[in-house]
Amino acid sequence: MKDNVIKYNLASLEKMKENSPLKHLSDEEFFEVCIYHELGHYLDYKKNQDRHSVRMENDYPELEFKFIGEQNAWRYGKEIIPPYRTEFSKNFDKLNESNIAFWTTNRMK
Ligand SMILES: [Zn+2]
Repeated sequence: MKDNVIKYNLASLEKMKENSPLKHLSDEEFFEVCIYHELGHYLDYKKNQDRHSVRMENDYPELEFKFIGEQNAWRYGKEIIPPYRTEFSKNFDKLNESNIAFWTTNRMK
């Protein structure tokens, strides 16, 4: 976060795509959806700095913190998608729905 760089592991990205509801997309299209999600994380970090510092100071439950972070990444990522890109926006929602479902399952454990 501090050096403003998004890094991806291409091998794990391919695996992620296979396990996602967006298997039908090309690698480039899938990658772009992921970038918007990561930009959402970045915006969450910028807009909610107090949330991030509270986490450092207290014993804030890690899973809860991540869960809220994933929800915020969805929300903020969605805000920066141009309105005319309706198909892209739908794919973005699909990916984030399955991401939240994943985190919800983990949260229950
Ligand atoms: Zn995320």
